[in-house]
Amino acid sequence: MQHEVLSKIRIETFTPLSKFTTWRVGGAAQWLAEPKNIEEIKFLTSWANKKNLQCQIIGAGSNLLINDSGLKGLSICMKKLNGSQLDLENGVIEACGGEHLPTLARQAAKAGLHGLEWAVGIPGTIGGAVVMNAGAQGGCTADSLQSIKVISMQGGEPFEIKNEDLNFGYRSSLLQQEKLIVLSARFQLEPGHDHKKLTRITNENLNRRTTTQPYHLPSCGSVFRNPEPLKAGRLIEDLGLKGHKIGGAEISNIHANFIVNNGQATAKDIYDLIIFVQRQVKKTHGFLLHPEVKQLGFNTTT
Ligand SMILES: Cc1cc2nc3c(=O)[nH]c(=O)nc-3n(C[C@H](O)[C@H](O)[C@H](O)COP(=O)(O)OP(=O)(O)OC[C@H]3O[C@@H](n4cnc5c(N)ncnc54)[C@H](O)[C@@H]3O)c2cc1C
Repeated sequence: MQHEVLSKIRIETFTPLSKFTTWRVGGAAQWLAEPKNIEEIKFLTSWANKKNLQCQIIGAGSNLLINDSGLKGLSICMKKLNGSQLDLENGVIEACGGEHLPTLARQAAKAGLHGLEWAVGIPGTIGGAVVMNAGAQGGCTADSLQSIKVISMQGGEPFEIKNEDLNFGYRSSLLQQEKLIVLSARFQLEPGHDHKKLTRITNENLNRRTTTQPYHLPSCGSVFRNPEPLKAGRLIEDLGLKGHKIGGAEISNIHANFIVNNGQATAKDIYDLIIFVQRQVKKTHGFLLHPEVKQLGFNTTT
């Protein structure tokens, strides 16, 4: 059995990671695998540990800037570890780490489960949503999350972590500092709601976003965290930076906290534009905007 699992998992080499990020940039992975079950993940982490390779996890790559020089070690893309189970009576959802968040939000609404309508416009996976405590329209992942099942990148058996132990904050969680892989998440939603109403609200949420944000171009959503109570987008717009370009990367004319790839951007173009914006804001306001996007393969840990 073990042998069968091992013989089926493909570990590819020098695969371009631009295909695995919504910005559509990034160099090649030294090694890349797309596991479909927990056994395959266990095999991959032990394979990497034996070879002394570092591991990094990619969800839908919708919050990732990967260096043009690519990533050393093993990159594990979680999107194929997908699927979910909805308990309509009790409102409990069990979703795999690679499940697509908007798909789950739509399924929940259709089933009359209230609590994920805000999530429809966030093109990430469940694992990425938990790590980032993704949120929109006043809701966030931590609101309805009960617990997650994780496994260490160092090996061992899966274990559970409860919501209260995940240190959730604004776009942050304990998982941003730990070498853990989110295998699945359990949500408690409110059952018994009118599915037509929930579906209408979900559709309205998506429409609002697609008309006020540049969903038609490759991006990673909001680049900078809001320096609360201020809004990063407003600060950037007020500095007259909308439309500012470096190479193929451009500060969106629709929403100033989005950097879009006009087709030919490199990760370096985007990185340089991030630094440029930080310098302009610092010069005028005296503080640094912190990126919300995670940067992999750069000399930074954000
Ligand atoms: C058009 C657009 C709109 C967006 N709007 C919003 C918004 O409104 N609100 C918001 O919060 N975000 C938004 N985002 C950003 C992004 O979608 C979220 O941060 C999302 O939660 C990231 O999920 P992901 O699966 O793509 O994670 P990735 O970008 O692949 O990874 C993000 C981080 O999570 C880690 N990670 C991913 N999966 C796992 C796992 N299974 N186990 C362990 N670690 C993991 C990665 O290593 C990385 O550190 C938007 C992005 C786009 C492109």
